[in-house]
Amino acid sequence: MNSEKASSAEARIAIMVEGSRVKLPAGVHLPIYMDNQATTAVDARVLAEMLPYFTEKFGNAASRNHAFGWEAEAAVKTARERVAKLIGASSKEIVFTSGATESDNLAIKGVAEVYRAKGNHIITAVTEHQAVLDTCKRLEGYGYRVTYLPVKKDGSIALDHLSEAIDDDTILVTLMAAHNEIGVVEPISEIGELCRERGVIFHTDAAQGVGKIPIDVSRQHLDLLSLSAHKIYGPKGVGALYVRSKNPPIELAPILDGGAQEGGLRSGTLNVPGIVGLGKACELCQQEMAAESLCLTSLRTRLLEKITSGLDQVYVNGSLAHRLPGNLHLSFAHVDGESLLMGLHDIAVSTGSACKSASLEPSYVLRALGLDDELAQCSIRFGLGRFNTEAEVDYVAGRVIETVENLRELSTFHESGKQGTDLTA
Ligand code: PLP
Repeated sequence: MNSEKASSAEARIAIMVEGSRVKLPAGVHLPIYMDNQATTAVDARVLAEMLPYFTEKFGNAASRNHAFGWEAEAAVKTARERVAKLIGASSKEIVFTSGATESDNLAIKGVAEVYRAKGNHIITAVTEHQAVLDTCKRLEGYGYRVTYLPVKKDGSIALDHLSEAIDDDTILVTLMAAHNEIGVVEPISEIGELCRERGVIFHTDAAQGVGKIPIDVSRQHLDLLSLSAHKIYGPKGVGALYVRSKNPPIELAPILDGGAQEGGLRSGTLNVPGIVGLGKACELCQQEMAAESLCLTSLRTRLLEKITSGLDQVYVNGSLAHRLPGNLHLSFAHVDGESLLMGLHDIAVSTGSACKSASLEPSYVLRALGLDDELAQCSIRFGLGRFNTEAEVDYVAGRVIETVENLRELSTFHESGKQGTDLTA
């Protein structure tokens, strides 16, 4: 943002919050970023490691005959080791990609092509990220059969549904580790065990899980795992796919053909600064995940308690017990979703609704949990992250309470709801 635009954004926010009764605590600056499931800021320690690889250390990691190439190759090797360590893999099992979308595509299409003779059935869930759902839909167009499992009311997969869905033609189960919208952590160890028993390959999209919850590809029987740097305080446009090399080795067909980098699985010159950033981001998660997780859980509890102590008819979407530490997803009854968002322009949160054309379309994920359209379109995802503070949480809670109260006062609908309509029934 250039400075002119930045100051006009600040001026707009200042006008919007002028009438607010909520005091801005000292040291808190607007807008407050609380959308860390969408993306995270690059950690200064990550950026510091990346910077030399744009300038003096700019070599191509595939240049074998000079020092610039060797330097880049060594940096990629270190990054590969750091990524592998975070998920309990060996470094030769890490394939660098442009992000989790590409990793998902490579995993699913790669398995579909290689194992076609064995079967043509793939299992996923209705609540998966579009990178998985749309990839599966494309494969349906090529004659593959896809089962889209429903989820329970708490957002998780029922293992018996999965078990029943696996048949002799099933080649792949692809289910995410943690949900991008509702933050629900899926039972990937149990899913992994089941898939191993039934001889089916298990891919997990762990873009939201890696670095936030402990993951161990061996212990959890994961065969393929997608991850992304920009969800863990690394740069955008870089990620990785873990590909099991033994017990059993997983074969993949590449999507991109070309220079045969990454063992032929992902041709294209390596994004060395990005890969260095991903590696450093993983190393920091490895060192700080346990403490950060406690801190984020406590911030989330504080946010939830403050909001629910000031407002009634607020509903948590998805399991609170099996959830990413930094995620809180709430629905507010008797509030117009669009007005709620307009009222919270000093806070960067996500709607939990995909905004299609001019209207707010309720999210397919919330619908899958059984929420009705009215409640689904009045939902907010709060994504707490490494750089959020208690003071910010207090301010956000105050602004949410104030905005919902104002909107409910305006709404006669709320009164009729209070007299007995249970919207969650
Ligand atoms: N999968 C999940 C669960 C995500 O949350 C995201 C990011 O929004 C993606 C895949 C796509 O990741 P990327 O932006 O790295 O392509």
